[in-house]
Amino acid sequence: MRPGSSALPDDCDALFGLDALGGGTAAGAGSEQPPAAGPLFRDSAAAHRLLPVRTVYAEPAAADSPRGRQILARYPAARVVPVDSHWRVPELHGNEGNVERWVRVKGETLVLGERKTLTTRPNGRSADWIAPGPSNGCAMACVYCYVPRRKGYANPVTVFTNIERIIAHLGRHIARQGPKREPNQCDESAWVYDVGENGDCSVDALISDNTADLVHAFRQWPTAKASFATKFVNPDLLALDPRGRTRVRFSLMPADDSRLLDVRTSPVADRIAAAADFLDAGYEVHFNLSPVVLRPGWREAWGELLRQLDDVLPERVKRQAAAEVIMLTHNRELHEVNLGWHPRAEELLWQPGLQQGKRSENGALNVRYRNGVKADAVDALRRLVAAHAPWLRIRYAF
Ligand code: SF4
Repeated sequence: MRPGSSALPDDCDALFGLDALGGGTAAGAGSEQPPAAGPLFRDSAAAHRLLPVRTVYAEPAAADSPRGRQILARYPAARVVPVDSHWRVPELHGNEGNVERWVRVKGETLVLGERKTLTTRPNGRSADWIAPGPSNGCAMACVYCYVPRRKGYANPVTVFTNIERIIAHLGRHIARQGPKREPNQCDESAWVYDVGENGDCSVDALISDNTADLVHAFRQWPTAKASFATKFVNPDLLALDPRGRTRVRFSLMPADDSRLLDVRTSPVADRIAAAADFLDAGYEVHFNLSPVVLRPGWREAWGELLRQLDDVLPERVKRQAAAEVIMLTHNRELHEVNLGWHPRAEELLWQPGLQQGKRSENGALNVRYRNGVKADAVDALRRLVAAHAPWLRIRYAF
């Protein structure tokens, strides 16, 4: 989660036409990905296993849109259930019974909606700005994921079908900023927009061309760069030709922790192995060392992971790599939910002796490592990076 400090008002469509940006969107809703050399991964059996969609809850306007029709055509056997709002799906949101079906709901259900509010929030830590994302929710099931907190007990992917409005909003926002004059921890020269705050763009790309449209749009905006974190290796993204204007941040943690906590994601070794392919395909490739979960032996495990990075990654990846280090933040309500479907994970995540509570703006009780514990751990991780992967610049750690 990357909390922004304030919200900007929505833009006026009449202020900046996309043509004023010298480009505009390369691919609006309804566009198709460029022809790939072979079959698309998203049509493979592996992709189908992650997303065996049976039910699509859809706002009527979303279902009727070009992007909505594209998505429904991908899942012709799915039952389509009309809903008034993607935020109010009684069968999904706040339904405690879904705890027992937590993982199945994420793969078998999709929601189609339109993003009504287009707001870009300042961030300044991972990215300069948090963009209105093309989705909310995820087909993967990381136990610590904060996204379900906002949606009750189940958060399958909600695809926002009005991607052209999102891209137009971004174009206007980018135009208003002008060139970036001062380098900062986000980037030397580009305004960085996180486009995947509430989901995983690599998984979104299995469902629709929303991710492709964003990647294509950013390559025409020389003062800006898209950025998203991912735990899924989707080879279809290699064909998108981002021309350096999209930063992929592969999230990493020790493999043993990941097997327990990163449910339904690509193995950590696959994420590391994909880094060079993504760089060669035109992405900037960074890493998120996150979340750092404190447990007996965590230092040794992270040391091993960093040595693996040093051994496996080619020089060209190392030269441009940077990392974010994020200590685990947890949440009491999520803890209760997780006890219902994955109690073993909570043995790692829920450590009251090491953690302190903090009431969030929306009233939820978040839990994070005590100040002294956290400061020591961040310091230890910085030293591990310096010892085992000294080429890895840490953009920030918290
Ligand atoms: S990949 Fe990201 S969005 Fe998806 S479940 Fe994991 S933490 Fe949440």
